[in-house]
Amino acid sequence: MKVFHCDHCDHLVFFESVQCVSCKHALAYLPDLGVTGSLDLDGETWRSPLKRAEGKRYRLCRNYSEHQVCNWAMPADQEDPYCLSCRLTRVIPNLATAGAQAAWYKVETAKRRLIYSLLNLKLPIESKIDEPERGLAFEFLADPADSAAPKVLTGHADGVITLNIAEADDAEREKRKHDLHEPFRTLLGHFRHEVGHYYWDRLIRDSDRIEEFRKLFGDDREDYSASLARHYQEGPPLDWQSQFISAYASMHPWEDWAETWAHYLHMTDALETATTCGLTLRPKRPGEPTLKPVPNVIAREPTAFEAMIESWHALTYVLNNLNRGLGLQDGYPFVLSSPVLEKLRFVHETVTA
Ligand SMILES: [Zn+2]
Ligand SMILES: [Zn+2]
Ligand SMILES: [Zn+2]
Repeated sequence: MKVFHCDHCDHLVFFESVQCVSCKHALAYLPDLGVTGSLDLDGETWRSPLKRAEGKRYRLCRNYSEHQVCNWAMPADQEDPYCLSCRLTRVIPNLATAGAQAAWYKVETAKRRLIYSLLNLKLPIESKIDEPERGLAFEFLADPADSAAPKVLTGHADGVITLNIAEADDAEREKRKHDLHEPFRTLLGHFRHEVGHYYWDRLIRDSDRIEEFRKLFGDDREDYSASLARHYQEGPPLDWQSQFISAYASMHPWEDWAETWAHYLHMTDALETATTCGLTLRPKRPGEPTLKPVPNVIAREPTAFEAMIESWHALTYVLNNLNRGLGLQDGYPFVLSSPVLEKLRFVHETVTA
C-alpha cells in the first residue's frame, strides 16, 4: 500500500480514511489516479485539487454516500452508481439483522485492499455483470437462523467468492483461527486466498503453465473431497513446514496454490508499504539480509524476485521485533523453506507474465 496525504493540508491519511483529521476535508480513494486524496464539493459533484485531476469531476460510490461502507469515488460521468470494488459484490447481508451493517463495513474494507493489490499487480478484474462466464463476484452471507440448516461455507466456485460474515466477528474469527491453527486468519487473508483459486482457473488451468504447476504443487487432479476428509481426520504431515507455507496448504495442490498466492499478495503489499514509507535496514554484519527499497515488486527483471525475498527477510525481522517490543505475538510467524520459495517464484512469474 502506498502512503497518502490530504491534498489540502498535507496531513498523512490512510487508504480507508473518509475525512482528514486535521482540516476535516472529505477524503476518497480515486482509482483512476491510484490515490486517497481530499475533495471539494462543487455543485452536485466533487473536484480534487491535484494538478493531474484538473478538469475532472467525481461522484462518490453509492455505498459511500448512502451506507458509509465504501470510501471510493469515480468519474462523475460513470453510469454505474457503484465503484469498481462495490460493483463486484452481488449479495450483501440482510441489513435488518443486528450487526450486519458493521460486518458488511469490515468485509468491504478488507475487499478494497484486495482490489487495490490486484490493480497494482495489473491482474485482470472483470465483474460477472459484464463477463458472466469468466468474471468475478462476491457474496457476503450470514448463517441461517435455523441452527439445523446448512451453514454458509467461505469459498470459491466459478468466479463467485462466498464469505460467511461471521468471519467479521473478531471473537468468532479468533476462535476459528485458534481451533484450526491458522495464524493469518483475517478477512483480507480469506479474500487473498479465495481469489487465488479464481486466478488459478484463469491463469493456470488451461494454460501451458499447468505442467510446471504440477511439478511444484503436485497433481491437481487428485480427488479433492478425499483430500479434504483426510486432512481433517489425520491432520497435516508432521514435516509440513519443509514443503508448505501453511498446514492447510498440504491438503491439496489447489489449496497449496491459494495459500502461496495469498502469501505473495501479503508480501508484495507489505513491501510496497515499507518502501513508500521510506523504511530501509542496513545491517552492520556482512551477509545479513538488507531491506532495500523495492520500487516495483512486479518488475520484470529476473533478479526482482531475489531482491524481493532478501528485503522480505529483513522486513519480517523488523516486524516481529517491533511486535515483541509491543508485547504482541510475531506479526509474521512463518518459515520460508526452499520448496516454498520455488512456489512463490512460480506465483511471481505467473503474475508478471
Ligand atoms: Zn487535511
Ligand atoms: Zn464502493
Ligand atoms: Zn481454498
